[in-house]
Amino acid sequence: MNQYDFVVVGSGPAGRRAAIQAAKLGKKVLVIEKGTRVGGVSVHTGTIPSKTLRETALNLTGWRERGFYGRSYRVKQEISAEDLRRRLLITLDHEVDVLEHQFARNRVSQLRGHARFIDKNTLEVEKEDGEIIRVHAEAVLLAVGTRPYRPSHIPFDGEKIIDSDEILEIKDLPRSMVVIGAGVIGIEYATIFSALDTAVTVIEPRDSMLEFLDKEIVEDFAYQLRDRNMKLVFGQTVEKVEKDATGKCRVTLQNGRSMIAEMVLFAAGRVGATDSLDLTACGLEADNRGRIKVDPDTFQTAVPGIYAAGDVVGFPSLASTSMEQGRIAARHAVGAPAQEPPQFFPYGIYAVPEISTCGLTEEEVQQRGIPYECGVAHFRETSRGHIMGLDSGLLKMIFSLKTRRLLGVHIVGEGATELVHIGQAVLNLKGTVEYFVENTFNYPTLAEAYKIAGLDAWNRMGELQGT
Ligand SMILES: Cc1cc2nc3c(=O)[nH]c(=O)nc-3n(C[C@H](O)[C@H](O)[C@H](O)COP(=O)(O)OP(=O)(O)OC[C@H]3O[C@@H](n4cnc5c(N)ncnc54)[C@H](O)[C@@H]3O)c2cc1C
Repeated sequence: MNQYDFVVVGSGPAGRRAAIQAAKLGKKVLVIEKGTRVGGVSVHTGTIPSKTLRETALNLTGWRERGFYGRSYRVKQEISAEDLRRRLLITLDHEVDVLEHQFARNRVSQLRGHARFIDKNTLEVEKEDGEIIRVHAEAVLLAVGTRPYRPSHIPFDGEKIIDSDEILEIKDLPRSMVVIGAGVIGIEYATIFSALDTAVTVIEPRDSMLEFLDKEIVEDFAYQLRDRNMKLVFGQTVEKVEKDATGKCRVTLQNGRSMIAEMVLFAAGRVGATDSLDLTACGLEADNRGRIKVDPDTFQTAVPGIYAAGDVVGFPSLASTSMEQGRIAARHAVGAPAQEPPQFFPYGIYAVPEISTCGLTEEEVQQRGIPYECGVAHFRETSRGHIMGLDSGLLKMIFSLKTRRLLGVHIVGEGATELVHIGQAVLNLKGTVEYFVENTFNYPTLAEAYKIAGLDAWNRMGELQGT
């Protein structure tokens, strides 16, 4: 039998980081991956493809230049699905190559096949050609991720009625699209297709979207989407999706309203990929969404020596946090100390426009009864914003009136997912409003919005007492 110190199931961000960490600590490590290429959802169907698609769409449409040249401005007049796919394939090849090299450099062994438990320390791997291989592990990390939730009342056909994996394979860009689900994935794709001039309608059963975000940011974002004619239908569930004789899709809501679109994207949830792992053989079970419960400090499951990390353990389900979870799990599994992750991590939503957030929202600050002050800056107040022709973009910071510390930073607009890291650093280093007021920022930059928002808050907070 093949003996390993640490066996990782899944080569997405959690598995990849965990495997390399354990190998760097001198352990004999194996990664089992059932996909044909390493990288997981992050590289093949999730993070990287959707971000590449977004970048391509913004470049080919000339989206970033429209503030100057008007809404009809285009870099390429006719954009096809093939235009979008070309860049995607190049990016994915590069990502896989980097990852393969990392594994090779760190002497991480790989095995292609589907893993399932025989017992707590033994896994059986079925390769594509049917060969079965058994491996023995001192410790196991389950980094198996998730797959799209596909309810039985939606007649998926892989072409016109699709999930968020299938959207990467479409042959033609639709002229109209209904997106079911206003979570992060639904909203990202809805706004990318809207930027490509597809007429998009989003349907969401809740009364709003992205409820974990600061309300003011969501309101600004929703205003921008409606301003470019996206339809946002909240508080409604989908009763039926069907194709009519012309091949168009009809979506009927529970209130009787119906709408026709060339394509329907169902993006309402994902489930943990645990159903074929034979978890009971190792004494574990998943919840009704296929998720595995872990100790949040070590990522060890209820069974000692078996760990789980990444999307399979649930919130926040980000590639960025999955990597850190994998690293912590690997260190614990091989008996190496792991420091606690910093209190605040950023959340990036790569919609058009981008949103990013770190720390407490204004609603959370209110719920906790913390006296606070907000500072707001519009990107159009910055010289860089003028140069870029930006007519939207908002940065909001929340400060404690008692300690003057930054409590949260929330951004919607160009570059939000990069800009947020300034706020994240100040938050984790426990900085105050004075940091923004007293420091010099490069000029002209969008980061200058931090200074403007800091001054806006400071004007109402007044001088630091005792100075
Ligand atoms: C459309 C979309 C956009 C996203 N955008 C972002 C973003 O912008 N930023 C961000 O941080 N996150 C984003 N995410 C989330 C991110 O992709 C996930 O958080 C991340 O991929 C989770 O990593 P993971 O390691 O848990 O597993 P995954 O990346 O899901 O990989 C799991 C791997 O395990 C393998 N596997 C499963 N079962 C078995 C088995 N039994 N045997 C062998 N192998 C198995 C699978 O084949 C897969 O390769 C996005 C997700 C989607 C779907």
